[in-house]
Amino acid sequence: MKRRADVVIIGAGVTGAALAYELARRGIRDVVVLERRFPCSGATGRCGGGIRQQFTTPHNIRLAMESVERYGTLSEELGVDIEFIQGGYLILAETEGEREAQRKAVALQNDLGLPSRLLTPRDAKRILPLLDETTIVSATYCPTDGHANPFRVVEGYLARARERGAVLEKFTEVVDLEVKGGRIVKVRTSRGDVSPGTVVNAAGAWSGEIARMAGVKLPNRPVRHEIAITEPVEPFMEVMVISIHNGIYFSQTAEGQIIGGIGNPGERPGHDTSSSLGFLRRYARELTRYVPALGQLAVLRQWAGLYDVTPDAQPILGPTPGLENFVQANGFSGHGFMIAPAVARHLADYIEKGVLSENLARLSLERFERELHGEAFVVG
Ligand SMILES: Cc1cc2nc3c(=O)[nH]c(=O)nc-3n(C[C@H](O)[C@H](O)[C@H](O)COP(=O)(O)OP(=O)(O)OC[C@H]3O[C@@H](n4cnc5c(N)ncnc54)[C@H](O)[C@@H]3O)c2cc1C
Repeated sequence: MKRRADVVIIGAGVTGAALAYELARRGIRDVVVLERRFPCSGATGRCGGGIRQQFTTPHNIRLAMESVERYGTLSEELGVDIEFIQGGYLILAETEGEREAQRKAVALQNDLGLPSRLLTPRDAKRILPLLDETTIVSATYCPTDGHANPFRVVEGYLARARERGAVLEKFTEVVDLEVKGGRIVKVRTSRGDVSPGTVVNAAGAWSGEIARMAGVKLPNRPVRHEIAITEPVEPFMEVMVISIHNGIYFSQTAEGQIIGGIGNPGERPGHDTSSSLGFLRRYARELTRYVPALGQLAVLRQWAGLYDVTPDAQPILGPTPGLENFVQANGFSGHGFMIAPAVARHLADYIEKGVLSENLARLSLERFERELHGEAFVVG
């Protein structure tokens, strides 16, 4: 176990793995990733793998566009097939208010160069022929959105980071952070202490606990989100579907299974990851309302993971006021996988050169003291 490191990353989900790689490829090789269990044991290994750029705030759109560009070449760069499929995202709306929100979002997205468009129900049915178009008033579509395999992405990032000198310590739990003179001077773990240069809090739904160890209060809450997968069928949809009306999302995997979930507005914050029949009922009801033919499929498996949710449903990235070597990389809600490549780049720029990009500045921890402009298109 390393006793000192230039950068200590807490958490080996997609955020920690992408950052370890991004630092190592820039020549910052003295990096240790501390993981309480094993890579992908948090939200990353439980997520839907969706990658979309259709958001409602400029910085979210920009981060997602930058990530999609990176995802496009990542298989080649990492030497691992990440199963990136650009089948587009179809976003469904059911009320006039939602259609108006979609119209505004598409205008902003097009201004930023995203090729999204507003569709009539009939146009949406051309993209997803099994859709019952009478259930919606409009939809938006962006052909360059898609999905990928989170396990492959993390495997690739970590393998290439380790080849360049980064160290992964599995089954190593951070239990305390010692602060002296405005810096974290020791990261205490279940397997001994590490003296850090910089400490990155990429602990997902446990980031609040990590921050508290250093006397920092984050506004994040962990919230359970359930998900299910069906038996495989012949490929019939490349597109990933989500609804801003009820938060459902579903897509077809490379093996033909339908994977998807739906949020529960009544879910109370906490670390519970048990599965419920209530979720399955609600998900099946909404799924088959949009695509009745899916009612014939058997569900093979269901599970749950935790969203790490901030008050404006956007991540907290960058420096921590009052602690000069503590960097936040958490609060991703249901979007951490899709933006990880860009987040890693911006954070690596900050750690390497002290450069705070406009995106990092907008997503700083300090923003919660100002007026918040939240992301409207949050699903799951
Ligand atoms: C059901 C579901 C579906 C989702 N679908 C999508 C989707 O389609 N697209 C998308 O972009 N996002 C999706 N998300 C969100 C996405 O999964 C997360 O935003 C993303 O995976 C967060 O990655 P992370 O690396 O920041 O956190 P995690 O993957 O949660 O990693 C944090 C790691 O920190 C470790 N850790 C915690 N405490 C400690 C400690 N004390 N010491 C050491 N290690 C510690 C944990 O074990 C964990 O491995 C979904 C999430 C869920 C739950």
